[in-house]
Amino acid sequence: MFIFYLKLEWISLKLVSIISWARGGSLWPLTFGLACCAVEMMHAAMSRYDTDRFGFIFRASPRHSDFIIIAGTLTNKMAPVLRRLYEQMPDPRWMLSMGSCANGGGYYHYSYSVVRGSDRVVPVDIYVPGCPPSAEALIYGLLQLQGKVGFVLSDLNKNNEWYGGDHI
Ligand code: SF4
Repeated sequence: MFIFYLKLEWISLKLVSIISWARGGSLWPLTFGLACCAVEMMHAAMSRYDTDRFGFIFRASPRHSDFIIIAGTLTNKMAPVLRRLYEQMPDPRWMLSMGSCANGGGYYHYSYSVVRGSDRVVPVDIYVPGCPPSAEALIYGLLQLQGKVGFVLSDLNKNNEWYGGDHI
């Protein structure tokens, strides 16, 4: 009986790993550019770096998307829109904050109209620093997100740091 339960647990762990692997390899971001950082996001998606090959395929609807790249300056006026899009996404969902403006307000930190960090509006999983972060930096952040997705969903990873290279 013990061997049976052991085998059952092994099978369920393998299943979770396979699901995590599949989910990590098909993370679809919402098309959501706010300011100049969005140009670097577009650069990462174009033929030179081609994020499609990692499974990051941009979608135009939050209902199709797994995560949002907050690329640019988040203003007070735009904050409710971001929150609404976040709430329209199916669970599990993730957020990636790209650039100084989205991370903490950046150059406009003391402006009356800018949110001092998108994590005041939505929970953020990955922060990519820079003004703007290069396309390479964004791709690195995306790979970190893939690692985190594997960690969140797989029991096999519970003793590892989520940023470990073995998830990528
Ligand atoms: S971080 Fe820099 S490049 Fe990105 S939106 Fe702000 S000012 Fe523009």
